[in-house]
Amino acid sequence: MANRVFNFNAGPATLPLSVLEKIQQEMLDYRGTGMSIMESSHRAPEFDQINDDTITLVKELLGLDDSYHVLFLGGGASTQFAMLPMNFLPDGKTAAYVDTGAWSSKAIKEAKGLGTVEVVASSKESNFDQIPDLSDIKLDSKAAYLHLTSNNTIFGTQYQSFPDTGNTPLICDMSSDIASRKHDFTKFSMIYAGAQKNLGPSGVTLVLIRDDLLKTGKEDIPIIFRYGTHADKKSLYNTPPCFPIYVLNLVLHWIKDQGGLAAVEKINRAKMERLYQMMDLNPDYFRGTVKTDSRSWMNVTMRLPNEELEKKFIAEAKEAGMVGLKGHRSVGGIRASIYNAFPREGVDHLVAFMEKFKAAN
Ligand SMILES: *Cc1c(COP(=O)(O)O)cnc(C)c1O
Repeated sequence: MANRVFNFNAGPATLPLSVLEKIQQEMLDYRGTGMSIMESSHRAPEFDQINDDTITLVKELLGLDDSYHVLFLGGGASTQFAMLPMNFLPDGKTAAYVDTGAWSSKAIKEAKGLGTVEVVASSKESNFDQIPDLSDIKLDSKAAYLHLTSNNTIFGTQYQSFPDTGNTPLICDMSSDIASRKHDFTKFSMIYAGAQKNLGPSGVTLVLIRDDLLKTGKEDIPIIFRYGTHADKKSLYNTPPCFPIYVLNLVLHWIKDQGGLAAVEKINRAKMERLYQMMDLNPDYFRGTVKTDSRSWMNVTMRLPNEELEKKFIAEAKEAGMVGLKGHRSVGGIRASIYNAFPREGVDHLVAFMEKFKAAN
């Protein structure tokens, strides 16, 4: 595939080539049905098989038992910012949030419109260059839940471990690092993630909810916004995003075929170590923007000596077959998003380019 670039886009992001080829192969005639899966009914047996298989795969890869409901919803992760407090923030309770910038700030803003919110920790004062220390976090008995954002896609920070919250449900937006490494996912009462970074195309949001939390969901909200509605019907209460779910299924198989999260973690670790090592050897030229112990494995952010050089870097990288390296408009600089599907060779290609660029400039 000579005309494929190394795609560092932050999301939607690169997909495994083998998955794209499989989609291409099955596009016109999905496994002998004489139609694309896009044209199939969501009530048809072939879609039901995909739906069931995807639920099973998610649980298997993340190590979750049947106490978890696996939902495939529309509206992106941003819709979860609202649906979560609508369902699980009753009057008289407080929702606790940790603010690590951008996405968590949006989640907080949405929750504030729906109930009482307390920001229990924040790294705002240092412009979100780190994950706040939560080792001795104290939660009020009135806390309905604690909400975290495991990886900040824009600032390039990531939790390396998660706090213990006792009986308070721990809820996490894992949009930009889900299934990228092993964790004890049973710590979480709820996890949600837009698929378009690590799991597939945009259009489907994966939502995992443990049954004990689900049962506490409020009933005085519209039917369509209740998690219970979707859990009762295996996400088939209304037409789900069928095609994105199909691609999600193929991506999960791709992860499983490599050996699951342990294998993917190993590859992701090597990729990010290679890149940070290059930066650490040239700290005055490729200046990391976050504290070392908060570094993201998924979104590597850096500044060059000046903005002129950053522009040149991005333009010349493009000529060398690498796109999507421009930092988010709110922070500038360079951002290399190296999600699950981003190949190791692409990281090596970037590091070699960085060396050459520095020597020439
Ligand atoms: C991209 C992203 C979102 C927003 O997802 P949408 O699907 O666009 O709503 C939310 N949270 C995090 C951590 C993200 O990276």
